[in-house]
Amino acid sequence: MTRSLASHPHTTSRLALSELAPGAMQSEIRAMTTECDRIGGINLAQGVCDTPVPAPVEAEAIAAIRAGHNIYTRLDGITRLRQAIAAKQQRDYGLAYDSETEVLVASGATGGLHAAAMALLNPHDEVLLFEPFYGYHVSTLKSMRVKPVFVPLAAPHWELDTDALHAAITPRTRAILLNTPANPSGKVFSRSEIEAIADVCREHDLFLFTDEIYEYFVYDGTRHIAPATLDGMRERTIVLSGFSKTFSVTGWRLGYATADAKWMAAMAYFHDLTYVCAPSALQHGAAAGLEQLPPSFYTQLAADHQSKRERILAALRHAGMEPTVPAGAYYVLARASRLPGKTAAEKARHLLAATGVASVAGSAFFRHGHGEDLLRFCFAKRDADLDEACARLRRL
Ligand code: PLP
Repeated sequence: MTRSLASHPHTTSRLALSELAPGAMQSEIRAMTTECDRIGGINLAQGVCDTPVPAPVEAEAIAAIRAGHNIYTRLDGITRLRQAIAAKQQRDYGLAYDSETEVLVASGATGGLHAAAMALLNPHDEVLLFEPFYGYHVSTLKSMRVKPVFVPLAAPHWELDTDALHAAITPRTRAILLNTPANPSGKVFSRSEIEAIADVCREHDLFLFTDEIYEYFVYDGTRHIAPATLDGMRERTIVLSGFSKTFSVTGWRLGYATADAKWMAAMAYFHDLTYVCAPSALQHGAAAGLEQLPPSFYTQLAADHQSKRERILAALRHAGMEPTVPAGAYYVLARASRLPGKTAAEKARHLLAATGVASVAGSAFFRHGHGEDLLRFCFAKRDADLDEACARLRRL
């Protein structure tokens, strides 16, 4: 009789999966995308962001390929892009980073976080994350045998409970991972909340990893506060961001980290081990975008997505799925009580079958047993697709 090694981790055979592998699962987001593609539905599950790529970004990437920029770059990225990122951090937040020693062009914010965690964390360290969380954050930490510790935000508006934050600290806590504007909640942490988080970091001498990938997706006049700008925080904050969302190039795998020079050399080393460098020609496209796009590009991006947000909010309300209004990012969490199914995954599959609109089960963003009454919808879609999805939801 054959047996699965995965289900028998105590097997004495050396031909076995790693200790981590049996616990690894395909993400629910990817699973819904596959299911949606199979039935030819409209995918509001994955944050793929299929809006057009800004003209200079596209043109310079193509020109760079033709000009022969197709070989490895310096491990931390081309000078032009590192300089453009440093200039952007200065322009947007008044944060000064040395483009030679404090900027890493990474293979997405995802690659940046992986490199930072390899460089700065040890197995069995604890890292605090806010719940609902972005699954990749949790899985990346777990893949390094780092323990995620969850600090629940209070539904439905996801306020920070500072007592819960303090209570989660242990002698093993090394860092807090903060995503603002946040996926999936759309929460934009306020200045006072970030002050409270910074206080905890200073008091307990913690790193703060910030995932700011949605920094330009803010609505109703909300402002994104860069946590590294707070007193005493620059030295301990590892800023992660990227171009996937802002320039609609999720498939390019291009992002960055900015951090104090003390940490950056080790981060660049670990990034090199996995990726060698970020995609060479595409770095020129991103640099052109940062250099050439005017401030109005970013305000228009927010305005366009605010209008998309209004449309999906109206459709969800019409369909009886009460949404929480997101102040940022481009996702909505909506109540799924009216849909049949015991779990959020069943409800999402029912919705896909009934309307051809794919969403993600809320349970993908919470610890086991939570989020079963929520679905997440991504609204970073071309208008025609979003409008068709909204029309179908309204007919539910
Ligand atoms: N961080 C958050 C919070 C995200 O939602 C996503 C994508 O959905 C990413 C990072 C991925 O960023 P990148 O494509 O730069 O790796």
